[in-house]
Amino acid sequence: MRTFWEKEFTCPLCGNRFKKKMVFFDAVRIKSRDIDLKPNFETVNPFLYEVVTCPNCYFSAFGKDFESIRVKGEETERRLKKLLEEAKKKVKLKDEETHTEAIKRYALSGIVYSVLNQRKKVALSYLKIAWLFREIGRPEDEKHYLERALREFENHFKYDHYEESDEPMILFYLGVLNQLLGNRKEAARWYEVLLRKHRESVYAKVGRERWQDLRRS
Ligand SMILES: [Zn+2]
Repeated sequence: MRTFWEKEFTCPLCGNRFKKKMVFFDAVRIKSRDIDLKPNFETVNPFLYEVVTCPNCYFSAFGKDFESIRVKGEETERRLKKLLEEAKKKVKLKDEETHTEAIKRYALSGIVYSVLNQRKKVALSYLKIAWLFREIGRPEDEKHYLERALREFENHFKYDHYEESDEPMILFYLGVLNQLLGNRKEAARWYEVLLRKHRESVYAKVGRERWQDLRRS
């Protein structure tokens, strides 16, 4: 079975056209999952390929969003261009599928989604950075990004109008990220909300196990 394919993208910010290596969905095999549901992959790691970055202006987004994003409003466009130019001065990107490069690309997608007010995707970008740091054994950096992801999930829950179907996932991450960061009371509080409101969801099933672990430990 083939693992990779090449896709051509057009950048929604600068119009640049470029090609990027992508992973076939069917080629991905999950071996196990960590406490926060981080998948551990058997062969190819799709997180190294998930974010598409325009090599010209550094506009970055998840592959499935990239071309459908419309940057609306002059002020938003100006702010985004300014932030990406600053990033371009500081960070040199290489066209490689390594942990280091993927972390840089998720950091850029975090900037883009934050300017576009898509807080869930900012949180997911930071969570993936934490997971990549976990894979290369850098616990301090992992913790830093778990904290940043938690803050984004908290603000998303408090201030945004999110899809009702996203709520179990958001509550699970509020619970498990607090648990990983050693905030036991906070973790228990969020698991309780998850179990009360969404007892049938898959996240509640996992949340229940985590909550029991928490009470036993
Ligand atoms: Zn571009």
